Amino acid sequence: MPFLITVTGYRITRNKESLSELQARIHRVRDPNAPIHIVTLNALKSKKARSTLQDERYRLKVTVANASLQKVNAYLGCSNCGKHSDYPAGECFKCETCTKEGVVSEPRITFNCEVSDGTEQLEITSFTDDTVKLFRMLAPDIFHMRHSGDHLAFESTQALLQDEPFTIEVSPTTTLTRNNILKWALRSVIPETVEPAVVAPLT
Ligand SMILES: [Zn+2]
Repeated sequence: MPFLITVTGYRITRNKESLSELQARIHRVRDPNAPIHIVTLNALKSKKARSTLQDERYRLKVTVANASLQKVNAYLGCSNCGKHSDYPAGECFKCETCTKEGVVSEPRITFNCEVSDGTEQLEITSFTDDTVKLFRMLAPDIFHMRHSGDHLAFESTQALLQDEPFTIEVSPTTTLTRNNILKWALRSVIPETVEPAVVAPLT
């Protein structure tokens, strides 16, 4: 059994990584300006809990082969905390969950799917803002599509998810810190940015 010590919440094996090396790595991981690398799912899945930090983030370029309308959960919820509401869409109320007054009952969307990059698959769940980015539709339109069972409209979403690779950022779930179990969850969908134009020098 390797000897484990705890350093600022991280467990390390004493023989494999010195304290200064670990501190340097934590510093790198927490640096908001550090580049986040695109990795393959295969490489991500080969990572071990003992050598992964809670703050690590990676990007993946993926598609979804079999998006299903059944796996879209569309409901009305609090505009502040997202918890389910019984009020009609657009109505203001005081949320009992987050206790905020004047919140609005609005469509909230979660979507479960399996992303793939050709090396491996990963099950992810996206919440409203990321689902909107993935579907390129507004939340009320997704809500309507789901509740009217409009499979025809969903076909173009399916095709989009299957044919146009998109970038997601993932990080370990808190089971890493709590139970030393490494699972990866969606952190955000990265919008495709337009490459800056190369400006030729004036002569
Ligand atoms: Zn709320």
